[in-house]
Amino acid sequence: MTKKMLFNVLAVLMMLTLMLSACAPAAEAPAAPAEEVKTVGISMPTKTSTRWISDGESMVKVFEDLGYETDLQFADDDIPNQLAQIENMITKGADVLVIASIDGTTLSDVLQQAHDAGILVVAYDRLISKTANVDYYATFDNFGVGVIMGTQIETGLDLKNADGPFNIELFGGSPDDTNAFYFYDGAMSVLQPYIDSGKLVVQSGQTGMDKVSTLRWDGIVAQARMDNLLSAYYTDKRVDAVLAPYDGLSIGILSSLKGVGYGSADQPMPVVTGQDAEVASVKSIIAGEQTYTVFKDTRELAKQTAAMVEAALKGEEVPINDTSTYDNGVKIVPSYLLIPYSVDISNYEELLIGSGYITADQLQ
Ligand code: BGC
Repeated sequence: MTKKMLFNVLAVLMMLTLMLSACAPAAEAPAAPAEEVKTVGISMPTKTSTRWISDGESMVKVFEDLGYETDLQFADDDIPNQLAQIENMITKGADVLVIASIDGTTLSDVLQQAHDAGILVVAYDRLISKTANVDYYATFDNFGVGVIMGTQIETGLDLKNADGPFNIELFGGSPDDTNAFYFYDGAMSVLQPYIDSGKLVVQSGQTGMDKVSTLRWDGIVAQARMDNLLSAYYTDKRVDAVLAPYDGLSIGILSSLKGVGYGSADQPMPVVTGQDAEVASVKSIIAGEQTYTVFKDTRELAKQTAAMVEAALKGEEVPINDTSTYDNGVKIVPSYLLIPYSVDISNYEELLIGSGYITADQLQ
């Protein structure tokens, strides 16, 4: 073999070695154990109210930004539907369940399954009752929401200074949602003294959650009840205020009032409250119909929920700020309460548009 041939053979061998090593498995550094991606099942009650849609969307975003997978379901306000959706999440291997219940007392069996599968359960803005298998509750100061509504009526009628008497009718939320009782009690903590002194008069005599609640927070039911109240008690009197604890009810009540002529110069609208800062109600406030709503920033609630979940899964201290209020019949559920805000014509731009919760375009 000539020198040249030998050189060529060596060159080919070197090339082969290089090619083989390029195909060989990559560097031998020990592989980091693959981070298991956790899944969060998010069960929301309904799409009929825009707030729950925002809640769901915010949560998907916040959890996915943190590296979780999400499974978001809306239950159309149908209890068996919500149960089936949660069961399905458990079967598919969810690691966490975040649930805004339709009826907080109906989840005991399915949450037993969740507990047996080692799933973390967070009640989201509606307390889950009659079970030990709920780990945390993320919500707003619900009694405080009611106090805001009572104070709105106090301010709207200038009850501290005016002589009155003024006529008021009361509406409560769904009796299967513990929040409804906190809202009512909070509002009555402000209004009851005025009722006792006679400055506020409930012409129908209908007071107490057993008489004023509205099953499933249904605006049509509220509208029908308002129709009845107006025709039974207000043909020769004026209603000056209506306590309504959710914008969907307020809109129904306002239609009823408009139907008998309220909302004109000689028959102005009564003071009407609400809750959730829904677009339809903010438009109504701008139009001078609904007087107030309560803003609960669902983006903040989503963030807070995710922070609680992260801490719990990592075994760190879970951020909570209330360990005494939310007794679910079996235990006191450790909770985080966020702050609600009163909204009216004077501050909706700053609070809602300024914070990006609602865009100016949505209000066109
Ligand atoms: C929520 C309110 C909402 C109501 C009706 C309650 O549980 O706390 O924000 O207005 O449900 O959806």
